[in-house]
Amino acid sequence: MDDRKILNPWGEDLIEDYKRLIKKFGISDFKEIKPYYPNPNHLIRRDIVFGHRGFKLVLNSIIKKQKFNVLSGIKPSGPFHLGTLTTAWEIVDFQKQGGNTFYCIADVEAYEDNGIPIKDSFETAVDNVADILALGLDYKKAYIYRQSSEYRVKDLAIEFSRGVTLNMLKAIYGLREFGLYISAMIQVGDILLPQLEDFGGPAPTVIPVGVDQDPHIRLTRDIAKKFKKYNFVPPAATYHKLMRGLDGSDKMSKRNPMSYFTLNEDPQSIRKKIMNAFTGGRNSAAEQRELGGQPHRCNIYDLYKFHFILDDNELKKIYQECINGDILCGECKKIAIDKILNFIEKHNKKKEKFIDIAREILK
Ligand code: SF4
Repeated sequence: MDDRKILNPWGEDLIEDYKRLIKKFGISDFKEIKPYYPNPNHLIRRDIVFGHRGFKLVLNSIIKKQKFNVLSGIKPSGPFHLGTLTTAWEIVDFQKQGGNTFYCIADVEAYEDNGIPIKDSFETAVDNVADILALGLDYKKAYIYRQSSEYRVKDLAIEFSRGVTLNMLKAIYGLREFGLYISAMIQVGDILLPQLEDFGGPAPTVIPVGVDQDPHIRLTRDIAKKFKKYNFVPPAATYHKLMRGLDGSDKMSKRNPMSYFTLNEDPQSIRKKIMNAFTGGRNSAAEQRELGGQPHRCNIYDLYKFHFILDDNELKKIYQECINGDILCGECKKIAIDKILNFIEKHNKKKEKFIDIAREILK
């Protein structure tokens, strides 16, 4: 298989074998450093965060309570969905661990990848920022910006372009429209922005992302080493697993609305998608009672594991009930619906209070 096909930041390819990725791309196994991570969040505890690049330096800063940065972002091409929620938990947690926090609205990428004009993505960006604030990001201790209006990011992209050839970009991303290469260079600017003197100079920096974003991290680490005058610390990344599509498709995709739901979605629509979701259930109730369900193949279990059951004991209980055949999928789905709609209702109440603040920040 063409390697680029399994690590494509703009694609929707299935990633099946995380161990293979670790080997193939020289990603480090997170399990080796997990025991040293103080107060690991649920994504780390459950091995959803499975890999990293250069994260030991950041971990050291966390342990010693020294300076480090965290940067993540969102492409304002639609409302917050289950995928963006994973990254959101991570950035909020790194901020709580003491990281200087940067949150980027990737509106240039939304234009280059999805053709959404920058002026049209503004209201989506406001909505996205209100979401992340409602999820716990402290905006008073964060720098939240749009790529299109952060001149330092664009300046860095222009400067770093002198260190990059078409062959390098082709080797990392394959042959692409030039706009996507430009947006990749702008992301390099984003990732290195926290280390400029304006923000206190070089410091360990972590980018928590889905593993499909690894090409951007590899490119940025190369450039950080090449432009010695800045003394950049090569940025680190943590990599999380990607959720499968609810409907049994390989990956959640905007092109396939039954494969995911958003936090803005109508409760009836969410209910319907969950009721139709692909599970690890057996062919009949009798068989499931006898053999038990298969949570490792189940999208409902993934919903619990990634987002909607944060208590490990509660998750373990569902797991046991499932594999023992004590609970059937219909009942389990109803529990999931209650939990998810309850979460979204509370979230949206919090979010309302942040809409004006989000607009103010982005102006
Ligand atoms: S009982 Fe729940 S966790 Fe088990 S397979 Fe069915 S839906 Fe999934």
